[in-house]
Amino acid sequence: MGKGFFNVPIAVNEPVKSYAPGSPEREEVLKAYKDMYNNKINVPMYINGKDVETGNTRTMSPPHDHQHSVGTYHVAEKSHIEDAISTALEARKLWSQMPWEQRTGIFLKAAELIAGPYRAKINAATMIAQSKNIYQAEIDAACELIDFLRFNVQFMSDIYMEQPESTSDAWNRIEYRPLEGFTYAVTPFNFTAIAGNLPACMALMGNVVVWKPSDSQIYSAKVIMDVFKEAGVPAGVINVVFGDPVMITDTVLNSPDFSGLHFTGSTNIFKSLWKQIGNNIHKYKTYPRIVGETGGKDFIVAHKTANAKQVATAIVRGAFEFQGQKCSAASRAYVPSNLWDDVKKLVIEDVKSFKMGSPEDMSNFITAVIHEGSFDKLAKYIDNAKADTDAEIIVGGNYDKSKGYFIEPTVIVTTNPKYTTMCTELFGPVITIYVYNEDEYSETLKLVDETSEYALTGAILSNCRYAIQEATNALQNSAGNFYINDKPTGAVVGQQPFGGARASGTNDKAGSAQNLLRWVSPRMIKETFVTPVDYRYPFLGE
Ligand code: NAD
Repeated sequence: MGKGFFNVPIAVNEPVKSYAPGSPEREEVLKAYKDMYNNKINVPMYINGKDVETGNTRTMSPPHDHQHSVGTYHVAEKSHIEDAISTALEARKLWSQMPWEQRTGIFLKAAELIAGPYRAKINAATMIAQSKNIYQAEIDAACELIDFLRFNVQFMSDIYMEQPESTSDAWNRIEYRPLEGFTYAVTPFNFTAIAGNLPACMALMGNVVVWKPSDSQIYSAKVIMDVFKEAGVPAGVINVVFGDPVMITDTVLNSPDFSGLHFTGSTNIFKSLWKQIGNNIHKYKTYPRIVGETGGKDFIVAHKTANAKQVATAIVRGAFEFQGQKCSAASRAYVPSNLWDDVKKLVIEDVKSFKMGSPEDMSNFITAVIHEGSFDKLAKYIDNAKADTDAEIIVGGNYDKSKGYFIEPTVIVTTNPKYTTMCTELFGPVITIYVYNEDEYSETLKLVDETSEYALTGAILSNCRYAIQEATNALQNSAGNFYINDKPTGAVVGQQPFGGARASGTNDKAGSAQNLLRWVSPRMIKETFVTPVDYRYPFLGE
């Protein structure tokens, strides 16, 4: 920026539309859904600004109707990944020099395209690809992605304004250089917003990107890429590749120019990538940045003073929205004995009132889980709970994959606080509840802290301030996002920066300046106005 200190627009969260019967947005999204559902598309990869078809294709099917095809996508050979890398490095020459206000213009335009002309399309794609009901699609694919794009610009501007002190004879300034080399974004199936944000936020900071979306999210990833293209992301800056994650990752991590991994997904995959980067460390020209937001075993703790209806609602919404496939979803709850009868009755009533089926029928609160692997895993845990003497299913417990991967929202109650489903991330519509002696609150908090390897989200519900204080202290390291008298899901960009520690990730807080700082390498520039001409300092005088 050579000719002005420009102010960026103040970022505001995109309002969530209601999709109530009769609303124009409902008609529009249903029309888009039908059009997309009944036509087949061909999804090429996107490398160096060109559509790349390899002829080696895979079918895309909605999780709620797995025999139905909505199209195919093309998968990469090793040579395509090599092309994506060399293309990105070539594009870097211009992109890394582009003034920030030009980059800003592109990504703010992307936000407005999603808010307007692409809104119905990106929501419908997310309903089809990831089986989200319209509300879940709207808060993710439209609103959260728009928020990321808008707030990232504001965070970038805040970072750039962070400058050192100067004196009258020397001017000190910091420039926030993009990383030297190319970056790698690996994204999960469960949030279209995360899929868009991971490559976009690195590109906004001046980096070039190879992006590998999840196989289960390609239909909505295609819409993201269409938005980026229309917004004006230049050729080679964000390259999208599909296919075998091991081959793609091996090729990327073998490049000496690899400079950063932005990963969101499961813990074990992230640990294996970290290890691979460590094993290759001697190959790289720079120490790669590693950011990973990973799994969770998110908790709700109710104190004996809590309101039973509020506890039941937190459990039901926290555990079952989007079939429990949010990294923040509540999957273990600790309910005091004095509240249990009421909470149990209310939870069962609510769960029995859910309707389950295709997201096209907007009265369905629950739709399908993402794929057969997830379905089979969940069914196994449910079967085991039916057989185990220390577990009881109080509602749900049925499943059916004849048409789509439907798992009934299921509540397990266990007498064993370390029962397998209290510790393991299942990533589905299953919550396990442990009923504790109402007078053993402190012991229970200790149990919550020690039960799982994760530390992503958690919630305390209580009407006693001392109990809230005690939980806030005792659970200090048990969650990166901690909620008081609320469910543990629903973080909003700019309001609740998101991420957890322990096995849940590097806690670089998506939706904050802290995350963007990982994608720059500051250069300090000191400019001296009157340059010394004599090495002798005054103290050397006779
Ligand atoms: P996943 O780990 O199966 O896949 C994530 C990405 O990694 C995908 O693109 C996948 O293709 C890729 N991948 C898979 N195997 C790989 C390999 N061997 N090498 C390189 N890449 C590989 O995760 P998912 O099922 O898509 O998403 C669910 C997981 O993501 C859950 O564990 C959830 O908790 C986590 N998640 C965390 C956050 C967070 O902010 N902490 C947010 C969303 C999802």
